[in-house]
Amino acid sequence: MDRLDGSAHLMIVSDLDFTMVDHLDPDNLGLLRFNAMWEAYYRQDSLLVFSTGRSPTIYKQLMKEKPLLTPDIAIMSVGTEIMYGESMIRDEDWEQYLNKNWNREIVTEETAQFPELTPQSETEQRPHKVSFFVEKIKALKVIRSLSERLEKRGLDVKLVYSNETALDVLPKGAGKGQALAYLLEKFKVDGKMPVNTLVCGDSGNDAELFSVPEVYGVMVSNAQEELLRWHAENARNNPNIIHATERCAAGIIQAIGNFSLGPNVSPRDIRDFQKCKVEILNSGHEVVKFYLFYERWRRAEVAKNMETPKLIFFPLGTFVHPSGVEQPVNHCIDVMARLHGDKQGTNYRIWVDRVSSAQVGSDTWLVKFYKWESFGEERHGCLTTVLLSSKAKVPDGFTWMHMHQTWLGGSEPEDQTNWLF
Ligand SMILES: [Mg+2]
Repeated sequence: MDRLDGSAHLMIVSDLDFTMVDHLDPDNLGLLRFNAMWEAYYRQDSLLVFSTGRSPTIYKQLMKEKPLLTPDIAIMSVGTEIMYGESMIRDEDWEQYLNKNWNREIVTEETAQFPELTPQSETEQRPHKVSFFVEKIKALKVIRSLSERLEKRGLDVKLVYSNETALDVLPKGAGKGQALAYLLEKFKVDGKMPVNTLVCGDSGNDAELFSVPEVYGVMVSNAQEELLRWHAENARNNPNIIHATERCAAGIIQAIGNFSLGPNVSPRDIRDFQKCKVEILNSGHEVVKFYLFYERWRRAEVAKNMETPKLIFFPLGTFVHPSGVEQPVNHCIDVMARLHGDKQGTNYRIWVDRVSSAQVGSDTWLVKFYKWESFGEERHGCLTTVLLSSKAKVPDGFTWMHMHQTWLGGSEPEDQTNWLF
């Protein structure tokens, strides 16, 4: 949260399953388009928040399976757990607050009276969330009667039904909406209220996000009946909520354009950067642009023309390979020439995460990011540092002076020789 000095230009608060992540898109193209846009234009001055029903255990699983960016804040277990930054520091004040009128034992005792309720896996049972599966036709009746019983025993609870199958019992003050309201209040106290907030969701437990005052909202095109119904009954006249025509992450990009919240063209959708000048010299954009070029180079989606690689790199520069071996850039350019098309027709993809940059001289920037590539079932990543100069030979662009990479914990390939940049 302290990453930004002032207010975030945009804060995106997005659900994960079937909102940020499209489980029906094996190539993750919508997500990769969003990622490129976020790192190129938003990472430096905006905040990314994931708000999911997943517990930390299966949240981390998804982060490994899909090319998800590292969020600034993760709200998990249907708004009952809030964690900050990459090291996922828990908000203990929030959990303290949720203890009010909550008693997990009473909840388990009472829910045990309902044979219609099948407990979810052990990982999904959390200090402030007790979770079940229940068939759609039985859900309404169970919810009514359970909520009466818990009330009689003095608990203030909230029952959230999602995806026409999952029932969560939470403290009344919990939920995705309340967790977001809590965060916004914290920002307000710190004088860092985001300029704009966009909430994104697809199912029942996301409905609360759309009731938070003064936020923009997008229900992705594939949103479920239960959310659309909630919208029709409660928020139909709110012009700040749209039902996108695009699925998942593409729907989020669409909403950014619809509400004019900032740049809404993903660099992934630009085939020719020469024809598309970005006015501001932006190191995030430079890094995204280079790795898109590099991905297309290896997939043979750009012509094998050595002019561009030669133009990007400072000929006397060095590349410190993640294995620790230092290589002259000229040698790397020769290697790159040989790699053209080596991943043609495959699912090879590259994305960058957590791009941050510091100006270290009148025309030089030190840029740091995670560079990931995936190929088949394999996925490898490097912490990457690049020294960029805006002075040299590229008009309106950067020259890559020096690059240094270190494997990200446990992600090094068995054969390191094929790794470049
Ligand atoms: Mg969802």
